Amino acid sequence: MAKLFRYFDDWKTEVFTCPKCGWTGIFEEGDVEIHDQLMDSSCPNCDYFSTPMLAIVSWPTMEESDQNWDKVSEGDKEAIIKRKRFLEKLEKMSLKSAAELPDLEGRKIIITWDFVGEEPDGYTALIYDGKEIWREPAVYEGYDRFSEVVDILKEKYGERLVDVEPTKVSYFYLLGDYFGADGAVEGVRKRIQSSTGE
Ligand SMILES: [Zn+2]
Repeated sequence: MAKLFRYFDDWKTEVFTCPKCGWTGIFEEGDVEIHDQLMDSSCPNCDYFSTPMLAIVSWPTMEESDQNWDKVSEGDKEAIIKRKRFLEKLEKMSLKSAAELPDLEGRKIIITWDFVGEEPDGYTALIYDGKEIWREPAVYEGYDRFSEVVDILKEKYGERLVDVEPTKVSYFYLLGDYFGADGAVEGVRKRIQSSTGE
């Protein structure tokens, strides 16, 4: 079993031993893979497809960074402050309830999910019939946010909502670097279609 660490634990100096081949080394000497929520290190000596994972380190939460601010590198501090500002802006501007959406005419509603502005300060714009009906900060790899917004749209427009269609540029932003996101976004769209009874 891989050993689990919080980001500010002492994972950088700990020596790990591969249970399969006996290789020993620190986190950085292993095969390190970086993911959205965490990074992991596997034995570099064992076969790639069956190599044991030795350690998992999760990226710090905002709270953990605040509590350990003196240990955060300058580069990370800048990224964390940016991220914080973004989350505040998102909290302020994000769609929270169906009541915030306008009433729409039409028996079948297809909403376009567009990306406007420039990375990383872009916005998600919801367009219906050529008109923008909502705008909020676009979340990179925001397939979870896509699902949340679709739920609110569904609540507002009910069975009349038949699809929420991401434009090409917004689709790439939704998926980010996460391979599974494609399925996640398509799954949400299928959910809309299946609930219209068509
Ligand atoms: Zn090994």
